[in-house]
Amino acid sequence: MYQQVLSQQQQYFASGVTKDLNWRKQQLKQLQLLLSTHESELLHALQQDLGKPAFEALLSEINYLHTDIKHCLKKLTSWARPRRVGTGLRTFPAMAFIQPEPYGSVLIISAWNYPLQLALAPLVAVLSAGNCAVVKPSELAPATSAIIARLLPLYLDKEAVVVIEGGVAETTELLKLPFDHIMYTGNGQVGKIVLRAAAEHLTPVTLELGGKSPVYVDSSADLKLTAQRIAWGKWLNAGQTCIAPDYILAHKDIAQALAEEIKAQLHQMYGDDPKLSPDYGRIINLRHLQRVRSYLDGLDVYCGGVVDEEQLYFSPTLVLDPPLDSRLMTEEIFGPVLPLLPISSFDAAVRFVQKRDKPLSAYLFSNNSTQQQQWVEQISCGSQCINDVLMFMAVSELPFGGVGPSGMGQYSGKAGFEQFSHLKSVLKRPLWPEPPVRFAPYADWKRKVLGWLS
Ligand code: NAD
Repeated sequence: MYQQVLSQQQQYFASGVTKDLNWRKQQLKQLQLLLSTHESELLHALQQDLGKPAFEALLSEINYLHTDIKHCLKKLTSWARPRRVGTGLRTFPAMAFIQPEPYGSVLIISAWNYPLQLALAPLVAVLSAGNCAVVKPSELAPATSAIIARLLPLYLDKEAVVVIEGGVAETTELLKLPFDHIMYTGNGQVGKIVLRAAAEHLTPVTLELGGKSPVYVDSSADLKLTAQRIAWGKWLNAGQTCIAPDYILAHKDIAQALAEEIKAQLHQMYGDDPKLSPDYGRIINLRHLQRVRSYLDGLDVYCGGVVDEEQLYFSPTLVLDPPLDSRLMTEEIFGPVLPLLPISSFDAAVRFVQKRDKPLSAYLFSNNSTQQQQWVEQISCGSQCINDVLMFMAVSELPFGGVGPSGMGQYSGKAGFEQFSHLKSVLKRPLWPEPPVRFAPYADWKRKVLGWLS
């Protein structure tokens, strides 16, 4: 059945309809219309799936998508244009250009934590580049998956965009098919499954994965502001953000003070009991709640640690100096627990991060410009913020994606357009006679000319 969906899409793609720039722009505008017309239903679905406060859902999902689409609409014509490049004597007379062309049909497999954004932002890039798409939302966010499946066919070209709901069984079937590109967002274990399946058809793959994103806080940082920014980025969506701070390395001189500031900020943001706050989300399901809670086994909690299974509530939790071999420090937390470890120096923090997997993000809070420069030069990761967390997502021109175990490939803005375009090289020459340098017989004088031309 899925084979038929793909064959029909590939046929439609071959007709050339989706390559037309007006068609692409029309699809993007339809997505805008969908988002504004159904905003309250979408907010409701996100509330059902994750207890997501409306403000957070607007900020990180709906408005994020609006900004992304607006940016693509503004830039698409120039991105899609053939890009002239120089030629040189060897091909004279000639002109050369790079022609971005869509791949065909792209499979988008998305995750549950930002279930709308992670399904539609890749779709924005895929459509901007002129592809068809099969969208497979996460089954762990069923309300959002259902609304995506209901609304996309009402707004988008049904021949070009198909939503298939389901879980492991459905995704496994889809992965057997020869898509022209696969875009997967989720954990690295499944990332490997996706990559193996893609290898069978030599299908190019984009993997948006996770990992442990570190923060280093130097003694030169303003602790109150630092605590406020970290607390916001960590406990947004109840800590279920792939680029959320996973652990803090704090200079030993300020580690205790920083912990106190973070606790104070939590109180400021969510009040005496975060469970009663309308601004604090919930854990996606019991399995994930129990997974994160198990990381606390045997550890002392500095603040938080309160869990209500029935309500899928897990309070904002800070743990000081956990052992490095605890699961809290060896696995991606992906929940509302934040370990804070004192460390002797900036250099020790850099070494600490370098010794581990390349993270999706790495954050530095410091007023020291040498440290700022070194953090950029010495830490390899997907993205960085200096003196903030998460906020690079607000810049459409910044590519988003991991490196090494945190992912491969990038999207957002132009990076997304290029991720789902093949950059085809074209050399164009006139049919004019030319000196017979490159043709056999390869006389000695031709070797000399070859030398001059190289
Ligand atoms: P998930 O459980 O929603 O799974 C992601 C997708 O993979 C789903 O659509 C699911 O149906 C599919 N899937 C699951 N198991 C499969 C299997 N065995 N075979 C084929 N398909 C399968 O999400 P998750 O993996 O729990 O997501 C959390 C992880 O994703 C974290 O590591 C997080 O850091 C990462 N993440 C990364 C980004 C990013 O943009 N880099 C964004 C969000 C989440």
